[in-house]
Amino acid sequence: MIRPILRYGSEVLHAAASPVGDITPDIHTLIDDMIQTMYAAPGIGLAAPQVGVPLRIFVADISGGRLSGDLLAFVNPELVEASGAQHEDEGCLSIPGFTSTVTRPTRAVVRGLDRDGRPQVVEGTGLLARCFAHEMDHLDGTLFVNRLRGLKKELILRKVKKLSRSGKW
Ligand SMILES: [Zn+2]
Repeated sequence: MIRPILRYGSEVLHAAASPVGDITPDIHTLIDDMIQTMYAAPGIGLAAPQVGVPLRIFVADISGGRLSGDLLAFVNPELVEASGAQHEDEGCLSIPGFTSTVTRPTRAVVRGLDRDGRPQVVEGTGLLARCFAHEMDHLDGTLFVNRLRGLKKELILRKVKKLSRSGKW
């Protein structure tokens, strides 16, 4: 089932998410829904708070569904290594219509559980490292605009506020 994606300003997006206890059938349903929602958007990553669930889960597929081996689901992920710096444009399904250059690691290693509760460690470079850093941020209540400074940040937040006020957000 495709779930609605919450936007900047929704409380759950701006708070740290809680660890998952048991991986119950409800968690499986949530992960399946998140995958479907990510592909439908379309996006390359989605964190549970973006669909209103304050749990430490994210899904990612930097191929956007074109390469079957690229789909990842992480439960209780931790960023165990990050190195290098890349400066590329980045967007977020919770801040549609806006992108900005965000500095991210060029290499990131995430450790956690897969959807069946098995431990997994995945090393990402390039776009996947960016995706990992972005999704891990979501689980701590941080969106990419929170990483911007000065005028860039103000411009995006001012436009978002304007859209909210006119009911278009
Ligand atoms: Zn995002």
